[in-house]
Amino acid sequence: MWLYSLPLLAIFGIYFWKRSGKQRASRHILEEAVASGMTEPASLHPVVDHVRCLGCASCVKACPEKNVLGIIHGKANLIDPTHCIGHGACKKACPFSAIELVFGTEKRGLDIPQVKEDFQTNVAGIYIAGELGGMGLIRNAVIQGVQAVDSIRKLDGIGSKDRLDLVIVGAGPAGIGASLAAMSAKLKIVTLEQESLGGTVSHYPRGKIVMTAPVKLPVIGKMHFRETTKEALIEFWEGVVESTGLRINANERVESIESEAAGFIVKTTKQSYQTRAVLLAIGRRGTPRTLGVPGENKTKVVYRLIDPEQYLNQHVLVVGGGDSALEAAVSIANEAGTTVTISYRSEAFSRAKEKNRIKVDTAQKEGRLNVLMSSNVKQITDDKVVIEAGDKEVSIDNDAVIVCAGGILPTPFLKSIGIEVETKFGTA
Ligand SMILES: Cc1cc2nc3c(=O)[nH]c(=O)nc-3n(C[C@H](O)[C@H](O)[C@H](O)COP(=O)(O)OP(=O)(O)OC[C@H]3O[C@@H](n4cnc5c(N)ncnc54)[C@H](O)[C@@H]3O)c2cc1C
Ligand code: SF4
Repeated sequence: MWLYSLPLLAIFGIYFWKRSGKQRASRHILEEAVASGMTEPASLHPVVDHVRCLGCASCVKACPEKNVLGIIHGKANLIDPTHCIGHGACKKACPFSAIELVFGTEKRGLDIPQVKEDFQTNVAGIYIAGELGGMGLIRNAVIQGVQAVDSIRKLDGIGSKDRLDLVIVGAGPAGIGASLAAMSAKLKIVTLEQESLGGTVSHYPRGKIVMTAPVKLPVIGKMHFRETTKEALIEFWEGVVESTGLRINANERVESIESEAAGFIVKTTKQSYQTRAVLLAIGRRGTPRTLGVPGENKTKVVYRLIDPEQYLNQHVLVVGGGDSALEAAVSIANEAGTTVTISYRSEAFSRAKEKNRIKVDTAQKEGRLNVLMSSNVKQITDDKVVIEAGDKEVSIDNDAVIVCAGGILPTPFLKSIGIEVETKFGTA
């Protein structure tokens, strides 16, 4: 009898050994997130009711992002909260209704602007679509952009000769959907984008797998993607812009929106526009924090790393001490012929994950990376940067600067326009 039980015992043994290995890995990811203070999800995220949860791991398998949910002590947990992007697949997968999707946490409230069914805010004539209004994900944002324009085109005063019908702020999925809908409705519009086409998608890590669902685009027809890559999606949108002649004013940030009798005056970093209506499709990432130093307007200064290979054989300065700064510095330091310096104003990289701190340490020890703690950039010239480090000022050769100093969230901008926001502390 015991002879027959042996294979069964072995199968159970392997199963429990694998399970405990996975749980250990999940615990480690959670501990790392806690140690680096990365515990607050950006927007919509799951909360698991541990009384109902039976630890079947259906949610873990359903989540398209890797290692965001994990099982610890037999219960599902959000182990890497900042990487949760609100797919909501976990809630659908749970057979025991143990998952609720909420905005914000008890510790950190999330400001959601008040938007009516037609996407209009409390300021008549100003509309919101996409992630800013709480509706994340590419397909949802595209659809909301299209629907918002359908409401806007029916407004009184559309079609006036002396001003624009609509200013669309942001060229992410919501802004692209809205711009195509406006083109199809023959509205007089301008689309303003502080960075480049694609919105948050253009910030995904290189080669990221993008999970989405087919959606109908005005003018173009069906966008068929279900599973694709960041690069393929951006290429598709670039093709859309080219084939339709859609104009996106890139590198033009909206700084203020003021009401006037017949609509609004939208002021940007380049000029002013008079318009009947405004659609805010600005997402939730906000505007990159700048250094405010002389020379920062040079084209060699950027606010995110796109491709480390472009810095081959260059002197690069990375400013910041979070994970994105550390990851950028290490990946550029791995490219041939680069000289990379990180400048950070604090004494330690306490906001970054341990694995990134270790990578920086190793690169520094191997002489591939120069680290200047407690330092501040003072000036950027064509071929140098001046950095204050302690009581000294150093001037180093420089071809490129990447500033990873976080972002200014959209709430103050919304409030300056008079848009009411509700702060959610872990509610739907
Ligand atoms: C790492 C990561 C992975 C993701 N993976 C997926 C996925 O696989 N599938 C999926 O469906 N979703 C995914 N998402 C979520 C998805 O990217 C967002 O929900 C979606 O991009 C929201 O679209 P949006 O147009 O509302 O905003 P955004 O894409 O954020 O675009 C807003 C745009 O507005 C611009 N802007 C902001 N302020 C101003 C201003 N003042 N003036 C001018 N322009 C301004 C910004 O530069 C930006 O380009 C992911 C998100 C992240 C962070
Ligand atoms: S699917 Fe539901 S029951 Fe299963 S582990 Fe996830 S939360 Fe728990």
